[in-house]
Amino acid sequence: MRRRVLVTGGAGFIGSHLCERLLDDGHEVVCMDNLFTGQRRNISHLLESPRFEFTRHDVAEPFHVEVDQIYHLACPASPTHYQRNPVRTIRISVQGTLNTLELARETGARLFVASTSEVYGDPEVHPQPEGYWGHVNPVGIRACYDEGKRCAEALAVSFARQYGVEIRLGRIFNTYGPRMQENDGRVVSNFTVQALRGEPLTVYGDGSQTRSLCYVDDLVDAIVRFMRTETDAEPVNLGNPQETTVEQIAREIRRLAGSSSELVFRPLPEDDPTRRRPDISRAGALFGWEPKIDLEDGLRRTIAEFSSRTAREEASPGA
Ligand code: NAD
Ligand code: UDP
Repeated sequence: MRRRVLVTGGAGFIGSHLCERLLDDGHEVVCMDNLFTGQRRNISHLLESPRFEFTRHDVAEPFHVEVDQIYHLACPASPTHYQRNPVRTIRISVQGTLNTLELARETGARLFVASTSEVYGDPEVHPQPEGYWGHVNPVGIRACYDEGKRCAEALAVSFARQYGVEIRLGRIFNTYGPRMQENDGRVVSNFTVQALRGEPLTVYGDGSQTRSLCYVDDLVDAIVRFMRTETDAEPVNLGNPQETTVEQIAREIRRLAGSSSELVFRPLPEDDPTRRRPDISRAGALFGWEPKIDLEDGLRRTIAEFSSRTAREEASPGA
């Protein structure tokens, strides 16, 4: 069934892949983004479709669009970006989610809310099931993002309880793939850019902290399937349980990029979680999902896209 779907944050990394998938599935897509961390080039190929519209708007300001479904992703996601203006980050999470929930209430649209594994903070339970309440420093440098998202979750479940708004709360774990910004400071984009340029790979701390990296196509598939599922307002972890140390990620990217860059060790940022791995049994039980793309395959695809992007930019700078 063709639907009219709003994707907030649709010009960002995950959002642009989601817009693409929704168009492929035959829907009409309204992409709302203020291009804070997103880019026009992520969606320029979609603008040719008569079923795609782009609206430049800040979700923290009021808006109204007639839609049947909403995917709410608007929020800077990388520590570099969300820590630069922490007040703005909380405002986007809280006011932006409130505005989006009001729209869902007015239109009766089902709403996917992009939450994060960061709601678990530096977890004392491993792997993390949805029933774990987390271990977050409420006054640390990550608090603007972590607590902002925790508040967004609380808002969403309150709208579900009080007004019957249909929410799908997805806790997204570290996701990577083509179209990550080269300079957004995240681990895969940093190491890939550094390996391709022959620069040292900057491992923070001793590199023994872990992350579980999910390829973006797998994540988008999970989000779309979750949205089709008839369920209640329970949060669901969305991520790949293949856990890797940061040093292993550096070595793997260096190998796959055919690079001879050295690894250099830099101070660990404050409150950097020690380990992170999703328990995805709820997603499996609810909508039969598990990721298909392993780390090597996903990194190969990512490195190939970064490499061709760099080549294009060198051929026509500023395009
Ligand atoms: P991204 O920074 O590439 O995308 C975010 C998008 O939101 C950008 O296009 C940005 O311009 C837009 N945006 C930011 N503030 C806005 C505002 N006020 N109004 C309108 N648009 C705004 O990040 P991403 O990795 O694609 O993340 C998308 C969502 O997924 C975010 O909500 C993030 O918190 C969540 N998430 C991502 C990851 C990950 O590993 N990538 C992990 C957990 C959660
Ligand atoms: N990291 C690193 N070098 C970098 C960028 C990140 O060692 O150049 C580490 C970072 O300290 C963290 C992990 O990689 O332990 C993942 O960082 P990212 O910013 O991608 O995501 P998050 O910390 O939000 O999970």
